[in-house]
Amino acid sequence: MNAAQALFKIRNTEKNAAFRVIRRQLRRMSASPQRCGWCEDSEAGEIDHIRPKGLFPEHTFVWDNFLGACGVCNNRKGSRFAILGPNGLVDITRQRDEPVIKPPSGPSALIDPRVEDPLILLELEARNTFHLQPRYGLSQRGRDRATYTAGLLFLNREALVLARRRVFADNREVLSSYRDLRESGGDAARLERLKDVLLQRPHPTVWREMQRQHELSSLVGLFRDVPEALSW
Ligand SMILES: [Zn+2]
Repeated sequence: MNAAQALFKIRNTEKNAAFRVIRRQLRRMSASPQRCGWCEDSEAGEIDHIRPKGLFPEHTFVWDNFLGACGVCNNRKGSRFAILGPNGLVDITRQRDEPVIKPPSGPSALIDPRVEDPLILLELEARNTFHLQPRYGLSQRGRDRATYTAGLLFLNREALVLARRRVFADNREVLSSYRDLRESGGDAARLERLKDVLLQRPHPTVWREMQRQHELSSLVGLFRDVPEALSW
């Protein structure tokens, strides 16, 4: 453990008022209420360092380097990191007993959800597997970044795949209830509540992908009947 990691461990407690505020603010920033910025599934109870503090001690207390994350994703990530070199991806992961030396510099291979939209490089395969995979037609560099991020965070672990599949089915159901309620003259407040149910779920990526892939055979009819949902 380097000095910055030790200091972070001492300060990052419930007793420390500044860190209580930081964790609360990170939870508020989550794409879905209070959920992990990586997996979108579990509670964002921990502060993950996008650039690991074991490799980049100078980023240990940098706000832009913090992401609200769950324990599974945070532990999984640890001090793993890679940069993009001239000939592809360079793994600069620091092993536990290795000394802290300045890692080679270069652009991050890991997608940074604080400043980048992960769906520029990743897409949900929403027909069968419900895996997150590199988008079709990316450059080699883009594919490398998408593959690295999904692999590092274990984004296709079984629990997440099952949850995405469930959210996809539930969102379809809500959309069809919305259509039926509107066609039978349901009042605006009830329609708004249905929309909120859909938008407040964990795994907001699933809904964004349903909008982006609205021409899938399982979705095209629903979105034809409720076209306004394309901009929810
Ligand atoms: Zn997570």
